[in-house]
Amino acid sequence: MSQDPRAIQLTTNFKLSEFLHGDDPIPAPWILDNIYRLANRLQVLRDLLGKPIIINSGYRSKAHNQAVGGASQSQHLSGMAADIVVSGMPAPAVQAFLKHWSGGMGCYQHYTHLDIRPAQARWS
Ligand SMILES: [Zn+2]
Repeated sequence: MSQDPRAIQLTTNFKLSEFLHGDDPIPAPWILDNIYRLANRLQVLRDLLGKPIIINSGYRSKAHNQAVGGASQSQHLSGMAADIVVSGMPAPAVQAFLKHWSGGMGCYQHYTHLDIRPAQARWS
């Protein structure tokens, strides 16, 4: 009997399943590596805020990304992005807190897109 990989605890507060969509297959190892790096960045944020972070959308397969109308070069495709909501904190407050986030940040009214691309990027 092998463990369901989706149940793997990546960090103190994040499981792999939180970064996957129900019907998507387990991603390739290089994508899992990105998800792991992203989870560690989000864990730092989670520890700083002391509030739960809900991941609305993490890794997306190509098919899933197309189905939700995601950009063709989306960071979600490589497991480097998550659309998050912080429990008990409005999205604009999250974005203000993350002003110096070193990767990409998409500022939306009800959620925040965060990614770990190597350069800073901002949009809304
Ligand atoms: Zn996103």
